[in-house]
Amino acid sequence: VRLLGPTDAWAFRDELRAFLDERCPPEALGGLGRAAVGIPAWARSWQAELFDAGWLLPENPRGLGGRDASATELLAYTEELAARGVLRSVHYPGYGIVGPTLTEFGSAEQHQLVGPALRGDDIWCVGMSEPDAGSDLAALRTRARPVRDGFVIEGQKVWTSFAPWARFCLCYARTNMATPARSAMSVFIVDMASPGVEVRPLRQVTGTAEFAEVTFDGVEVPAAALVGGEGEGWRIALAALTFERRGLWLEWLSGLVCAYRALLGRERTRGWRPAVADELAALYEEVLSVFALGMAGFARRGDPGLGPHSLLKLAVSELAVDLMELAVRTGYPTSLSGPDDDPVLGLEALLRSLGDTIGGGTADMQRNAIAARLLPRDPTAAR
Ligand SMILES: Cc1cc2nc3c(=O)[nH]c(=O)nc-3n(C[C@H](O)[C@H](O)[C@H](O)COP(=O)(O)OP(=O)(O)OC[C@H]3O[C@@H](n4cnc5c(N)ncnc54)[C@H](O)[C@@H]3O)c2cc1C
Repeated sequence: VRLLGPTDAWAFRDELRAFLDERCPPEALGGLGRAAVGIPAWARSWQAELFDAGWLLPENPRGLGGRDASATELLAYTEELAARGVLRSVHYPGYGIVGPTLTEFGSAEQHQLVGPALRGDDIWCVGMSEPDAGSDLAALRTRARPVRDGFVIEGQKVWTSFAPWARFCLCYARTNMATPARSAMSVFIVDMASPGVEVRPLRQVTGTAEFAEVTFDGVEVPAAALVGGEGEGWRIALAALTFERRGLWLEWLSGLVCAYRALLGRERTRGWRPAVADELAALYEEVLSVFALGMAGFARRGDPGLGPHSLLKLAVSELAVDLMELAVRTGYPTSLSGPDDDPVLGLEALLRSLGDTIGGGTADMQRNAIAARLLPRDPTAAR
């Protein structure tokens, strides 16, 4: 799956290839297959090495994990990582959500946390969802009560990815119970070692426990922990969701291409079955279209915004489910814990892909965002 010609961004691509040939650890190969349990040492040092060399987020400025890459270079980077199935990191929230959010809304003091978040030196979790506030974030009930030197947080979060390992949480809470959440929500940096923070890991259907339930029982945070201003939480949440969806579809596209190539390779080895070949060809068209659509958005300079990222996140996550289902349906490993489960195409990969249609906003919510932000309004509806 390639959109660029062999000579496009060749110097950039050559440098990247040489770096990956020399430095990429074997554990980082294999796309977005079976997630590591916890954050292993190899993943920490690989992420830091990519950051230091300007290859973690090449579109970023130098010093922040990048090298001011152009849109064409970013496409070359995505193609190259996809072709090799290179995993950049095993924990997304720090570099995908928290880094850009603090860059845009944080104070000068909070900006000091950006580098370590992107480099993976500090593990972060994001506390948005609650038992009765998932798709409907405005229903959130966690409260931050102003006290003399800061705030006291009370409440409960759920599905908090990486909470068991996190040093900090970007926590969404209401600072005003009397007004609607959209004007009363604020964002705080909470040190997970603070008294009153309790993390209870939640075991998933795959057997691992990457997310947790987190309770905040009278957790004191200083005034300097407030991100943006009081009541700025809704605006910050919309931006954070845009960062999250933008990063996720780009990241998952690499995994999708890698899984596609793996399935193609296996089918070629076992001998082509016409019905499977037809389905693979149809999927190829769709994967390539998403690749082209996404990259056209980046090439237009400037971020295309929440609507296009919702569309791309939806497309990539649903295509991944289609691909994994095709793999399992056509005879690839189907036992979860057995040695025959395949990290890229097996049952665990299928279950994970289903989770990806929920995390970062469900497929239904992406469709709502697309309808509200991208589709033309029905002129008769207003009458
Ligand atoms: C892998 C994974 C990682 C996650 N990581 C995090 C994390 O780190 N931090 C965090 O805060 N959260 C995280 N989440 C939680 C995730 O954001 C929520 O699960 C998601 O927003 C849905 O919320 P919910 O589970 O409460 O479902 P609900 O909102 O209760 O939705 C239930 C069903 O109703 C549908 N629905 C709800 N409202 C509408 C509507 N208005 N229109 C159409 N359909 C609707 C939904 O699509 C869904 O099918 C993660 C989830 C997953 C799966």
